Amino acid sequence: MKNLSFRAKITIWFSGIMAFLVAVTFAIVFWVSNAVVQKDIQDNLVEMTEANADELTYYEQMPELQELYKSQYIIWGDGYLEIDDDFLDVVNGIYTFLCDESGSLLYGENPLARAEMEIPFQNGTVQRLKWNKTVYYVYDRLLVEDGVEGLWLRGIVSEHQGTQQLSWLVRLCTIALPALLVLAVLGGYWIAGNALKPVKQITQAAAQISQGHDLNRRIGLGEGTDELHRLAAVLDDMIARLYHSFQAEQQFTSDVSHELRTPMSVIMAQCEYILEEKRTPEEYEEALESIRRQGKKMSRLIEDMLCFARLEQEGESYPKEQLPLSELVKDVCLDLSLYKRKNISLAWEIEPEIFFYGNATLLARMLSNLIVNAYQYGKTDGSIRVTLSRGEKTVLLSVLDDGIGIAKEQQEKIFERFYRAEAARSGEGTGLGLAMVKDIAKYHGGTVAVISEEGKGSEFRLIFPFENDVF
Ligand code: ADP
Repeated sequence: MKNLSFRAKITIWFSGIMAFLVAVTFAIVFWVSNAVVQKDIQDNLVEMTEANADELTYYEQMPELQELYKSQYIIWGDGYLEIDDDFLDVVNGIYTFLCDESGSLLYGENPLARAEMEIPFQNGTVQRLKWNKTVYYVYDRLLVEDGVEGLWLRGIVSEHQGTQQLSWLVRLCTIALPALLVLAVLGGYWIAGNALKPVKQITQAAAQISQGHDLNRRIGLGEGTDELHRLAAVLDDMIARLYHSFQAEQQFTSDVSHELRTPMSVIMAQCEYILEEKRTPEEYEEALESIRRQGKKMSRLIEDMLCFARLEQEGESYPKEQLPLSELVKDVCLDLSLYKRKNISLAWEIEPEIFFYGNATLLARMLSNLIVNAYQYGKTDGSIRVTLSRGEKTVLLSVLDDGIGIAKEQQEKIFERFYRAEAARSGEGTGLGLAMVKDIAKYHGGTVAVISEEGKGSEFRLIFPFENDVF
């Protein structure tokens, strides 16, 4: 059963139920019809016996004219009993006969004569008895008219009389019901096959995708609102996301290789240059300085890569704890205020006593990335303002500068890894700073947004939820 297809299982289950229903229907039809037919037989028996009772007349003297038809007269007592032509002694399997009180047959035929049974007379009731594996119904009528009082008219009919009526119904049922069953099973098998066709399509598409690693392929079941169409749509969506994340992964790997190649080639070139021939101490110093700069760049890049990878592992490398955020922000600001560049001043406004559940290393790194950027893209004699405040259920951290600003169309892209705006290309950054800010914010359940105007400055706003983080 386990190895059967879904379609076969559905069909077997469905056929079993149908067969059971057909059998029950057949049994009910047979039982009800049989009851109706048997009732019919009994009613006919009573009707016929009563009608025959009306055809008996007693005469004290035999009318002369009827002498010719003596066979219809029975001498009874001091007179004659006339049995009319309309007296039907055997009709439709119903036997009616006349007996005296002792049960001796006076007229007609007793179909149970051979049974030699003593059947007591019961006026006006139908008795049911069995002889030779056949059921018989017996109806007795006591005659009360003058001259014939004490005689009994008895009607007998066998139950077989009704089986003929039943047999056509049984025949109809034995042909029609199995035919219906076959039709239903075939129809069910076909419908199940049709309904499950999308599953086949989904399986094929999934196999092709996994065999050929072709993430560009989609199941494409088309329009539809049933479960399978919804499943296919969800799977298509999932494949599309996988495709994009694979693409991003590939892009990232190629960007990293590219970023590492430049400093590496500079290092190699510097090494070759100083090893070519004897150089002056100044030349050696210059080359080593250049190698150190490039090495630093590479090491920063590798460190960033590691940080991204650890952030994705969620929590193992950067455990969170309850920490005094106000102090942490203040410390970073204090450290970076010493970072004199372009005569830019750094000021801060920090709401005290804000505690936050997070990782101190990451939060400090996130803030310093933003402040360093503000210095880097700030104007000479400009200013930077860091603000930390508490909302109703949030903590807001903002870094505002009056630097070069960011063009509208670039504002979304700056959070992508390795993206650097045109104006910043010449600078020494790697294009990973803001991507890291975004990932660190996400790691703490927060979001980052930028409000900026070209030439006027930028504000980076970080919002963190903190419900129970303050105490
Ligand atoms: P990097 O600074 O190393 O280039 P980031 O990811 O930190 O990389 O920043 C991405 C880009 O966003 C920068 O190249 C720069 O164009 C822009 N940017 C970031 N911060 C600012 C800022 N404070 N003012 C103007 N532009 C900014």
